[in-house]
Amino acid sequence: MKKETRLVDAGRRKEWTGKVVNPPVYHASTVIFDTLADMKNAIRHREKNHLYYGRRGTPTQFAFQDALCELEGGAGCALYPSGLAAISGAILSFVESGDHILMVDGAYEPTRSFCDTVLKRMGVETTYYDPLIGAEIRKLLRPNTRVVFVESPCSLTMEVQDVPAIAKAAHDHGAIVMMDNTWGTPLYFKPFEHGVDISIQAATKYIVGHSDVMLGTATATPEHWDQLREMSFQMGYCAAPDDVYLALRGLRTLGLRLKQHQENALILARWLEEREEVDHVRHPALPGCPGHDIWKRDFTGSCGLFSFFLKQGSEKALAAFLDGMQHFKMGFSWGGYESLILPVQNIARIRTATPAPTSGPLIRLHVGIEHPDDLIADLEQGFKRLRAN
Ligand SMILES: *Cc1c(COP(=O)(O)O)cnc(C)c1O
Repeated sequence: MKKETRLVDAGRRKEWTGKVVNPPVYHASTVIFDTLADMKNAIRHREKNHLYYGRRGTPTQFAFQDALCELEGGAGCALYPSGLAAISGAILSFVESGDHILMVDGAYEPTRSFCDTVLKRMGVETTYYDPLIGAEIRKLLRPNTRVVFVESPCSLTMEVQDVPAIAKAAHDHGAIVMMDNTWGTPLYFKPFEHGVDISIQAATKYIVGHSDVMLGTATATPEHWDQLREMSFQMGYCAAPDDVYLALRGLRTLGLRLKQHQENALILARWLEEREEVDHVRHPALPGCPGHDIWKRDFTGSCGLFSFFLKQGSEKALAAFLDGMQHFKMGFSWGGYESLILPVQNIARIRTATPAPTSGPLIRLHVGIEHPDDLIADLEQGFKRLRAN
């Protein structure tokens, strides 16, 4: 089946949908058993898409989990109340006091913060590594290294990582490879074909796709699924049925939306490359982005998220540039249908293993599905204000 067809079919099993198109939204805590035999049967099968107790899911969650595995691969999918909870929950499922993890230097900032606070307090040590390290990561592996965490492309600075080379070194050493695959989505990067053991999605972003739900997922290989699932049950993670329903709905149009995000973002990135105010653009699908060749080798597409560095930017000029934007709204997150803009003035603050670029402020764009002409006009006006200040 091609991916367009999979997106339509995924998770729509008759046993969950009944006679309608979409799986119903079950609001449930208690599941009622008719007989003692029924209850015993449910206990026996409780980890296998069997109604047991609300926290362990209903057909609404089962359908979404099934769909994610169908699209991304993996033996099972655990749900979390946010992308960050999926990251922390997956890491906590596999480390204990005295362990060591390798975290990419360009990780999503709250992921770093989790390592520097919660893991540190537990006695788990984190070493940050250069996103472009590739197979050389073997030099950083220690006898107690349990997890190697990749995020490709990196948040904000967009370096594309050599995931297969990193995974091979990690596996030779007996470590688990986890990936934040939010940028690649289940469509443009296949984590399990590139050596990843656990793939994480901030479903909040493109899967939900409409900026109205927080949700996280982690899918795992058969070898790691039992432990991930059991730990997620032990810690009581679950996701609300209305939110999961919106994620299922978002999935159906993921392919169509991404096509437009991809096209629009490439038009804008190429336009920005020609602007005199811009020092350089970092879009994984364009030459010049660190790791671009790896993107060409391993990814099958690009989304609407990329960054560029301004040559200069006084506080006043930056404010003039940002404050008058009409279509690019300023805010965190990305992956909805709408365009967003995010300034990052001191990238060195969130880098410890690699030097930060020395140009002016970084601007991250999430390019929505508006018409690109309107988006270019918006940026053009912004540059006019920048220059006038
Ligand atoms: C937003 C984001 C997350 C966290 O997702 P939330 O649902 O906001 O907690 C994780 N990783 C990346 C790359 C993100 O952009």
